[in-house]
Amino acid sequence: MPKTKFIFVTGGVASSLGKGIISSSIAKLLVSRSFSVAIQKLDPYINIDPGTLNPYEHGECFVTDDGAETDLDLGHYERFTSIPTSQANNVTTGVIYQSVINKERKGEYLGETVQVIPHVTDEIKHRIKMLANEGNFDFMITEIGGTVGDIESLPFIESVRQLRWELGSSSLVVHLTLVPYLASAGELKTKPTQHSVKLLQEQGVQPDIIVCRTEKHLNEGLRNKIALFCNVTPSCVIECIDAKTIYDVPILMKEENLDQEILRMTDMENDKVPDLESWEKFLDKLKNPIHEVNIGLIGKYVELRDAYKSINESFTHAGTANECKVNITSIHSEFIDEDNVKEKFAGLDGILVAPGFGERGVEGKITAVRFARENNIPFLGICLGMQCAVIEFGRNVLGYKGAHSTEFDASTPYPVIDMMEEQKKISGLGGTMRLGAYPCRLVKDSTIHKIYGKEKISERHRHRYEFNNKFKEVYTQAGMIPAGINDKDNLVEIIELKGHPWFAGVQFHPEFKSTVTNPHPIFVSFIKAAIDHASEAK
Ligand code: GLN
Repeated sequence: MPKTKFIFVTGGVASSLGKGIISSSIAKLLVSRSFSVAIQKLDPYINIDPGTLNPYEHGECFVTDDGAETDLDLGHYERFTSIPTSQANNVTTGVIYQSVINKERKGEYLGETVQVIPHVTDEIKHRIKMLANEGNFDFMITEIGGTVGDIESLPFIESVRQLRWELGSSSLVVHLTLVPYLASAGELKTKPTQHSVKLLQEQGVQPDIIVCRTEKHLNEGLRNKIALFCNVTPSCVIECIDAKTIYDVPILMKEENLDQEILRMTDMENDKVPDLESWEKFLDKLKNPIHEVNIGLIGKYVELRDAYKSINESFTHAGTANECKVNITSIHSEFIDEDNVKEKFAGLDGILVAPGFGERGVEGKITAVRFARENNIPFLGICLGMQCAVIEFGRNVLGYKGAHSTEFDASTPYPVIDMMEEQKKISGLGGTMRLGAYPCRLVKDSTIHKIYGKEKISERHRHRYEFNNKFKEVYTQAGMIPAGINDKDNLVEIIELKGHPWFAGVQFHPEFKSTVTNPHPIFVSFIKAAIDHASEAK
């Protein structure tokens, strides 16, 4: 039975340095040496999960197979390693406190005064060890959200301190910091790194490896300086220089021997050679595209880089599979109307209408679908995007004036999208949607069936509304074909359009299952259609 080695990843100096990418890169390197690995994210906020968080606050909410609404870093973990994550891979302060308070109410603490130490820290440690034990992993990587020094991350850092003490050389701490370049002085500065390590030390944690985000190379003198001030060996000062793509980072980390340092310090040294051949091939294709397409991403959070993270990454994977550079033009759906759509969409080879909640921007999305349908531009509608395609077809092809989803118009004469029966009884918001993986049967001879090359698929969902089966017959007759069905609940999960070069609406989120090694077939086919469109347009 392997004894799990624990790697804790903390961050200092500033947020958004990319702890998720570093954690994913470490995982990738270890997996490529045939170790079994799990990655987990501990988030210090009090929400139970990011499901109720506004994307403006926290970016995309990533959904796992078991229906957990999680931090977007879990998307990176899956995209880098192709190892599926679950509820246990994302734990928030809210979850920890909820569990502690529930235990207290049940009397499980036998009258003790319930405190941050040991009760809250015990609960945190339990969540870390539980995941490690469940899978008997060689390595368990735990990323601590937030920045060292934040009040709310204190119990998590304290748990790391206790675990380091318990686990000894079976654990180590990787601390990610920033080494800023001061243009006026023409120098890289190590002081912020020194201070953030001091802060960590004040909390009883000595980092073993320091990964330095930097825009310029660290010279030997600088590495020695950081090593001297921070109690680490110079070989454990790892440069993480700004990269062209996040997918370069595992290779950069390998060049810096990050994986070897980890193996050395956890007594896991071996003579296996990391197998990164397919990763390198992917990078090579990514950087040397033959084709180029312009895709319009129509959503209402388009000014936010992280709001459609998985969709953007899926385009990178699918573009690479097609040796194609995918230029994504984000178009704000709130400002699209019949008068400006032609001008706004000029030069697009494909149109993706994004998922979403709430009425803002929905009419613009419907206009976008119409434009794609009438102009034979490849179209992919995801979740709300599919629902908009159904509404648009109702209004403009079937002549259903005022057709809508009951999410936006409860008294529409044509409720072509309606709330699912089981959703009607629910009043709370958190974790109450149709969430996670559901099976779907693809209708034989449909385009989507050919795309997947199989009949049975499983995809992840996050929604309350559905295609209204009362309209199924009429839609089918008129050319909008249900091509994917959930047989158990008789739900239409996919629609396609007869006579259109490429038109698909999916009620699920294919973007949550696209990885570097397994680009999603829907995205791959969509990009291929966009390439065809681009070459016809020439
Ligand atoms: N708001 C829609 C629903 O709840 C679509 C959700 C989504 O796009 N994820 O069904």
